[in-house]
Amino acid sequence: MPDLNSAIQKTDALIVDVLRHRVGKDERAAKLHDWYKAAILAIRDEVIDRWIDSTRRTYQQGGKRVYYLSMEFLIGRLLRDALSNMGVTEQTQQALAAHGLDLATLEELEPDAALGNGGLGRLAACFMESLATLDIPAYGYGIRYINGMFRQRIDDGWQVELPETWLAHGNPWEFERLESSYRIGFGGEVVADGDAVIWHPAEEVEATAVDTPVVGWRGKRVNTLRLWDANALDPLKLDAFNAGDHAGALADQVRADSLVRVLYPADAHQAGQELRLRQEYFFSAASVQDIVRRHVQYEGDIRTLPDKAAIQLNDTHPAVAVAELMRLLVDSHGLEFNEAWAITQATVSYTNHTLLPEALESWPLPLFERLLPRHMQIVYAINSRVLREARKAGLDDAAIAAISLIDENGERRVRMANLAFTGGHSVNGVAALHTELMKQTVFADLHKLYPTRINNKTNGVTPRRWLQQCNPGLTGLITEAIGPAFLDDTTRLADLNAMAGDAALGEKLAAVKHANKVALADHIRHTMGLRLDPDALFDVQIKRIHEYKRQLLNLVETVALYDQIRSHPERDWVPRVKIFGGKAAPSYHNAKLIIKLTNDIARRINADPSVGGLLKVVFVPNYNVSLAERIIPAADLSEQISTAGMEASGTGNMKFALNGALTIGTLDGANIEIKDRVGDDNIFIFGLTAEEVAQKRSGGYDPRAVIEGSRELGQAISAIATGVFSPDDPNRYRDLMAGITDHDWFMVAADFDAYAQGQRAVDACWNDQARWRAMALRNIANVGWFSSDRTIAEYAKDIWNLT
Ligand SMILES: *Cc1c(COP(=O)(O)O)cnc(C)c1O
Repeated sequence: MPDLNSAIQKTDALIVDVLRHRVGKDERAAKLHDWYKAAILAIRDEVIDRWIDSTRRTYQQGGKRVYYLSMEFLIGRLLRDALSNMGVTEQTQQALAAHGLDLATLEELEPDAALGNGGLGRLAACFMESLATLDIPAYGYGIRYINGMFRQRIDDGWQVELPETWLAHGNPWEFERLESSYRIGFGGEVVADGDAVIWHPAEEVEATAVDTPVVGWRGKRVNTLRLWDANALDPLKLDAFNAGDHAGALADQVRADSLVRVLYPADAHQAGQELRLRQEYFFSAASVQDIVRRHVQYEGDIRTLPDKAAIQLNDTHPAVAVAELMRLLVDSHGLEFNEAWAITQATVSYTNHTLLPEALESWPLPLFERLLPRHMQIVYAINSRVLREARKAGLDDAAIAAISLIDENGERRVRMANLAFTGGHSVNGVAALHTELMKQTVFADLHKLYPTRINNKTNGVTPRRWLQQCNPGLTGLITEAIGPAFLDDTTRLADLNAMAGDAALGEKLAAVKHANKVALADHIRHTMGLRLDPDALFDVQIKRIHEYKRQLLNLVETVALYDQIRSHPERDWVPRVKIFGGKAAPSYHNAKLIIKLTNDIARRINADPSVGGLLKVVFVPNYNVSLAERIIPAADLSEQISTAGMEASGTGNMKFALNGALTIGTLDGANIEIKDRVGDDNIFIFGLTAEEVAQKRSGGYDPRAVIEGSRELGQAISAIATGVFSPDDPNRYRDLMAGITDHDWFMVAADFDAYAQGQRAVDACWNDQARWRAMALRNIANVGWFSSDRTIAEYAKDIWNLT
């Protein structure tokens, strides 16, 4: 251990030097923002040294590199991550304290890089950190969105979307690499020239790499997150400008900018926008060109690509990379189709994230063909090969129609999932149930044809961000209890099992949780003006707003509980704070209505003296990574209540359990595996199974009868439907409630009674605090397996064949 005092002095000198010479400020005149910049630049220098070492080492070793292609990287803030992973948090904190500064305050100045919608984007960010931690040479490839995911404001209870201006003050973490630029074409025509085929795009933009270092735990390796920026080949048409057409002179640049302007937030809906397909091709093509260029430069022979490169497609958004790689191999490198196909399949693999049919990407064939005429030819060629294989394997017409890369039902469409499935050697689901359902439903026929291709890789989260950094109190307590080994191997948390019944440890755990709740309550009081009682049970549902995630089930139960508390004020109610947060896709009407309903219910309940502080409801605006880091350590109860069969995995569920919240949840996604690990007695499971949901949906389910049979449910639905919570617009929720009454696709009514019972079991358990604490400890102790280090180790071994 180097002496802390000398480390503090060194850090202090470094920061003051950076403040002077690179920020240009004297320490007496420096403002908070200057110190923030100095702190980042000081740690960044150390990161860069490791980055250069890592890159050199990768080239020297000449091993295989992993390329993770993702439309989204929800990385959040990077300062705390860098300090913590480099092991310099303590000395930086103290060096700043000597100047009267608080590190946490500086950290708040960093914008939250929100380049993703939710779980899929956050998974990509956790994976990048784990790849570096496991010392695997890897590049993340995505888009450098200028505005990224929208910022959510709540006006009169409604969601308002604002552009996120995360780059407004520059981004000290990124480095533009002008030498890594590629021309990306769109449209035009394909001409045959002897044996060769030449694509003449009608339009070209330049993709330029912008690199961000990603530090692994203990600073072992620093990998690169390479995000593409778009520029016009001719950013300013000077002749047009001089002729007086000032706007027209910039038109190409504006058009290029639009490619990287925003992330389409319509994550679970068919985004029909041509711009979205352009974005997908733009970043996939730039990435594949970069990968092929690097390989040829260092290895010479394109045929060895699969030995040196593993390309992982995070969902189908980069699926067109399959066709782009084929195009480069055949058109630019002159390989035969069959050889190119073998190389492509050996290099590429694909992760599926959803079974929702409306979220499976497909593009109208005429659009795809107009934008990517050469790729359309390649898709046809791949399809012909795949369908011949299917015919040879004896599959029937229905199976062949399902396998085809072209959907022939109605308007013809290109199926990106089928392209991704056939174009690689591995297709993985993200939790055991999800993988099983993939085999039975969306990919049933492809699975018949390629029975060994589908495999499971249950998601994970990085314990650095989601335990160590977001919950230093708990990290300290665990270290005190079992020593620091869990910091390098989260499965060592299991050592806590032996102490789960230890009352003294339980008390300390409760004290840590209480401090985190006080901190969250303070934050909510400052930002929203709402007072919360930190002794109440903090019941949290934070995630994207979607009908399948069933915020509505939680809200209907909240209303029922409100009724119960008013009817039976003499009972011994457990004081609860219901915390909600999440963004709704701007075009998703019901999701936006659910946000408004949450706020309408909150306004009514929070102002009602007859519940006497026993129940509070709060919708925290602009849910993002930083907010998650604040809320999760303060949660007592984690709501993971999706309709069974619909949540592929979930990763929020893992973060909460790791921070000692108990889960109330359905047998869905990774909840099932969490239950298997923490034990049935340490989780509140309720409701229909995926199989039962499928059965009910296939006929004979009558939600009206269910509602009539449940007094509490009926009263709650009718109160919401008739405007009790929306007296200003009594019909506001009529249709939303009719959805439950008429068809109840998401099984809100069907699961209501079981859920309400589960919540009363939660209450009973909360009243026995010793038991609650022991359960919380058992959760922390047994979810170490859900580290993204474990997930990445499985990808490395089974999919990427890394040695
Ligand atoms: C973890 C995380 C998610 C995913 O949450 P789920 O509950 O699994 O849907 C979404 N958004 C953010 C900001 C996250 O940190």
